[in-house]
Amino acid sequence: MDISTKVVIIGAGFGGLCMAAALKRTGHDDFVVLEKGHDVGGIWRDNIYPGCGCDVPSHLYSFSFEKYRSARSRYPAQPEILNYLTGVADKYRLRQHLRTGAEVASAEYDQTARRWTVRTEAGDTFTADVVVCAVGQLHRPKLPDITGRADFTGAAFHTARWNPDQDLTGRDVALIGTGSSAAQLLPHVARQARRVRVYQRTPNWVLPKPRPEFGPLTRAVFRRTPGIQSAYRALVYLAADLALTPVITKGWSFLPAKWAARWHLRRQVPDPALRARLTPDYPIGCKRIVVDSDFYPAVTRENVELVTDPISRITRDGIEVAGGRHDRADVIVYATGFRTTEFLAPMTVRGRDGAVLQDSWQAGAEAYLGIAVEGFPNFFLVHGPNTILGHNSNIFMIECQVHFIMNCLRLLPGAVEVRAEAMRDYRDWLDTAIGRTVWPAGCLSWYKTESGRVTNPWPASTLHYRKLVRRDPAAAFSVT
Ligand code: NAP
Repeated sequence: MDISTKVVIIGAGFGGLCMAAALKRTGHDDFVVLEKGHDVGGIWRDNIYPGCGCDVPSHLYSFSFEKYRSARSRYPAQPEILNYLTGVADKYRLRQHLRTGAEVASAEYDQTARRWTVRTEAGDTFTADVVVCAVGQLHRPKLPDITGRADFTGAAFHTARWNPDQDLTGRDVALIGTGSSAAQLLPHVARQARRVRVYQRTPNWVLPKPRPEFGPLTRAVFRRTPGIQSAYRALVYLAADLALTPVITKGWSFLPAKWAARWHLRRQVPDPALRARLTPDYPIGCKRIVVDSDFYPAVTRENVELVTDPISRITRDGIEVAGGRHDRADVIVYATGFRTTEFLAPMTVRGRDGAVLQDSWQAGAEAYLGIAVEGFPNFFLVHGPNTILGHNSNIFMIECQVHFIMNCLRLLPGAVEVRAEAMRDYRDWLDTAIGRTVWPAGCLSWYKTESGRVTNPWPASTLHYRKLVRRDPAAAFSVT
C-alpha cells in the first residue's frame, strides 16, 4: 500500500490524538494516524495491571478542549482513562484517519521533493509533507539484565504486559521494582497471592494520595455550581506548578515535601527497622516521586516481605539474592520501568543530507522545546526530549507542543527547520536550568542516560514552557 497525505502522525495515545484533534478542529482532513497497537490509548491501552491509574487528578489530566467532568472520581483508574481517550477519538471523528497494527520502521526525508516517506514494519508506505512523532517516552518495557532471567520456568511478565489470565491466588509472587507501577500493583497482588516478595533496589520518596473519589459535599458542590469543575482544574494546575516545581530545584517547597513524605512513612509503617529500609538517601524529586497511599500498608502485610538484598541471579524456580538466600517463586512480575532515553527507537529517522536522528542523539536526545531537531525539516515531536513532567500534568505539555506545531504548520509550504542558533540558545538555557535541579547528582533514574545526561524531564515550571511555546516560531525556524 502506498498512500500520499499531508501529515503523518505516529502514535495514537494522548499526544497523537491531541495532534489529530487539533488538525480536525482547524478543518484539516488530510492526515493519517499510524498506531502500532490494536486501538487508540497508548500507555493507557497497554498498562492493564490491577490498580493501574493516574496520580494526577483527572480534571487536570484531560484535554482543555474536552475537559474530564466527573462529580465522583478524582483519580479514575486505567479503564476510565482509556474510555475517555476512545471517547475523544470517536467524538472528533479521528478513527477514520487511524491505521492500527502499523508499527513505523522508518521515516526518510526527500529534500528535493520536500516530502517524508514513512514505512511501516508491514511494508506500507506513506508520503507526507509533515511527520509528527507522538510515541511518548514510557512505552517500551525495560526488562532487567539479571543473570538467569531466561532460566525461570514459571510465569514472568512486565507490568506493561500484564497477563490478565494469570491467576495469582495462592501463588508465591516475586515483584521486582518499587516505582509507581509496583506501588499501584502491590496491594492488589498481595490480596490474592499466598506470599509476595518485593525486591527493592532503591527506596522511593512517597507522598500520600488523596482518596480516588470525592466526598459527598464536594460532589454536591460539583453538581450544583456551574463552572466549578473548570475552577478546580485551574486551581490544581496552579497549585502543582507553584508548589511542586520548586521541589525539583530545592526551592521553598523542597523541605516541606520531604517532611510530608517522612510523615507519611512514619504514619503508615510503625516498624522502625522496616521504615529505615524504605527511607531514601537522595534528595526528594531526584527520581519521580511516587504518589500513593496504599503501598506502605501493603508492604506491612503479613504475606509481604520487602527484600533489600541485591538480586544476584534468577533461577529456574525463583530468585537468589546476595548472601546466597534463595526465594522460591511461581510468578515473577517485572515492575522495572521503561527504555526511556532511547526515544524514537527502534525506528530509523533520516533527515536532510542523510542525517540519521539516532546518530545526532548518541550523546543523549535533544530537541528545540522538545519539539524540533535541526536537520529534520517538517518533522516534529510530541513528548520529545526534556518535556515529560513529574510535577504537573503531561497533557498540559502535550497541548503546548501541539499548539506550537500548529503554528509551525502555518509557515508551510517549504522546509520548516529550527535554526542552529535557536537550538544553541535553547540548549544553553536548558543546561543551566537542569543544573539547578536535583536530577544530575544523587540518584540513578529513568530521567537520564547511563552517562548521566538528563534527557527526559522538563526542568522548570509549565507556565514557563507555555510562555516559550507561545512565541512565534518564525523567529526560531528557517523556511526554505
Ligand atoms: P520506574 O519508576 O522506572 O521503576 C522501576 C523500578 O524497577 C525501580 O524501583 C528500579 O529500581 C527497579 N529496577 C529496575 N531494574 C532493576 C534491577 N535490575 N534490579 C532490581 N530492581 C530494578 O518504572 P515504573 O514504576 O513503571 O514507572 C515509570 C514511570 O511511569 C513513573 O515514574 C511515572 O512517571 C509513570 N507512571 C505513572 C503512574 C501515574 O500514576 N501517573 C503510574 C505508573 C507509572 P531503581 O530505583 O534502583 O532503579
